[in-house]
Amino acid sequence: MKVAVVTGGNKGIGYAIVKGLCEKYDGITYLTARDVGRGEAAVSELEKLGLKPRFHQLDVTDQKSLETFHDFIKNEHGGIDVLVNNAAIAYSHAATEPFGVQAENTLHVNYFSLLNTCHMLFPLLRPHARVVNVSSCEGHLLKIPGELLRKRLSSSSLTEEELTDLLKQFVKAAKSGNHQAEGWPNSAYQVSKVGVSALTFIQQHAFDADPREDLVVNAVHPGYVDTDMTNHKGPLTIEQGAEAPLYLALLPPDVKSPRGCYVWHNKAVVNW
Ligand code: NDP
Repeated sequence: MKVAVVTGGNKGIGYAIVKGLCEKYDGITYLTARDVGRGEAAVSELEKLGLKPRFHQLDVTDQKSLETFHDFIKNEHGGIDVLVNNAAIAYSHAATEPFGVQAENTLHVNYFSLLNTCHMLFPLLRPHARVVNVSSCEGHLLKIPGELLRKRLSSSSLTEEELTDLLKQFVKAAKSGNHQAEGWPNSAYQVSKVGVSALTFIQQHAFDADPREDLVVNAVHPGYVDTDMTNHKGPLTIEQGAEAPLYLALLPPDVKSPRGCYVWHNKAVVNW
């Protein structure tokens, strides 16, 4: 049996991605959530619709939780065929936490923990696996004001370590109030999602050299969606927001494109 895994699946776009996979995917779909109560409640909702997701706890920021999940999947199924890295946070405009704190927490969840989740789970990917990194229109390179930074971030020779170092430098600069002087935007969310987009291109390079056949990863902007994250201001339903992530999760074997692309909610490949 094939296995699909969605992080942050208890609500919002992640929930709709799980729902879509349960409807369309010929395999087992894991709804994962950091909170067991919220995760199981979401599974019950889907069961009422006649769908059969499975549940496992997974907090992407918690190493122990990642290890437990990794071992469970390895023992139970042997591998993963679809991984949707959807879990993320965003501070509201009204948040009163100092910018340095927002930067540290946002990068911790949206970039560093997504990266760590990949490090933990990529060894389980089977040939033809599809990975979807949920980025954002805020993860477009042009959100970075500094020209030199843009050059470094978009360099085809940028390594994962160099990217991670750059993002650590952002957090440090945010704490000392120097981030804008160093060419970063005044939004930690934007920086975190630019990081996710840049990481995706690097990951596809590694996949292309991987002995496992036909591994594909893409970054996606799901559109502006009616969820808690947007204070329900987005015009798209969660099902509409799940459309492009589902398209990328279900790309057919040996697909030529998109591979390692930045994909919009209308499924168009966008020049980063
Ligand atoms: P929501 O805030 O509605 O849902 C976020 C999900 O992520 C929740 O299930 C949340 O769990 C989970 N989550 C947060 N932290 C963790 C963690 N440490 N471990 C596991 N799960 C976690 O957001 P959306 O559905 O709107 O966003 C989904 C994705 O889409 C995100 O990556 C977001 O950045 C992206 N996006 C959204 C847009 C929009 O318009 N909504 C636009 C562009 C991108 P919990 O309930 O426990 O907090």
